[in-house]
Amino acid sequence: MVFVTNNIENQQVFLSELERFGVNLFIKREDQIHPFISGNKYRKLKYNIFKAQEEKHDTLLTFGGAFSNHISAVAFAGKEFGFKTIGIIRGEELGNDLKNTLQQNPTLNAANKHGMQFEFVTRSDYRLKNTEEFIEKLKDKFGNFYLIPEGGTNNLAIRGCEEILKLGDESFDIVCSAIGTGGTISGIINSINKNQKVLGFPALKGDFLAKEIKKYTIQGKKWSLITDYHFGGFAKINGDLVNFINQFKLETSIPLDPIYTGKMMYGLVDLIKKGFFKKGTNILAIHTGGLQGIDGMNNYLKQKQLPLIQ
Ligand SMILES: *Cc1c(COP(=O)(O)O)cnc(C)c1O
Repeated sequence: MVFVTNNIENQQVFLSELERFGVNLFIKREDQIHPFISGNKYRKLKYNIFKAQEEKHDTLLTFGGAFSNHISAVAFAGKEFGFKTIGIIRGEELGNDLKNTLQQNPTLNAANKHGMQFEFVTRSDYRLKNTEEFIEKLKDKFGNFYLIPEGGTNNLAIRGCEEILKLGDESFDIVCSAIGTGGTISGIINSINKNQKVLGFPALKGDFLAKEIKKYTIQGKKWSLITDYHFGGFAKINGDLVNFINQFKLETSIPLDPIYTGKMMYGLVDLIKKGFFKKGTNILAIHTGGLQGIDGMNNYLKQKQLPLIQ
């Protein structure tokens, strides 16, 4: 496999409830890049994979939660590019009965099928993942590896995300993206021109995000964070959000994921309905992918007797 991204389209979104607001809404279908290395994770891995190849590594090691899109992406990319992969996963209890865990968890199951070896760690150990001591212990155990941080964010990842916007996208006034660690939006911010502005929708409560994004971005670009649509925190969800995702798919045929793009689009539609944008505004929302997470979320929704994502 090589890193090529043909045919990533901007698709116009028509929602009946938005008609009278006169904005032009498009979505960049980065979710269609690949079923497992989807959207922004593909962008973030590209130059990291090149670097690992250059440095002649044979193993990629990274970190994530049990439903992580990043874990899913690294496992598949490792298989495609001929690396062994090791996933340090938060939650030691998941390792007690691996067979059962894999049955219950579609993300880990797919990663396992793609050859990823797991190391399940306690939540307190997981918090130490960026310390030198913890990394040294991992090196003792697994030998040498190319380390990709949690969520995949580093300078090379941001360079990859600077390739999301394409020639022709200068016609958009506003570019919207969901935010986890802030890496993706930083790449987007670096690549806009002076007439454009980026709006970021954090998928979690994160006062640290603005500072993080400043660290990675060129000064003088226009961007701001819309912090009202995290739904209580990372991976938190309610029936309202599920209904929105289902209605959106019904009307547009575009699936959204519940952790990131669903929240972003919910927020964006809400802002449009509140008259946040003047008539004629051209808006491009980035579909960063994450659809692999729907099955796992539905297992959870079933337990909570909430409506399922269709
Ligand atoms: C990981 C992820 C994000 C967040 O990207 P960051 O670079 O961590 O901000 C957004 N959307 C989807 C679908 C993701 O998987």
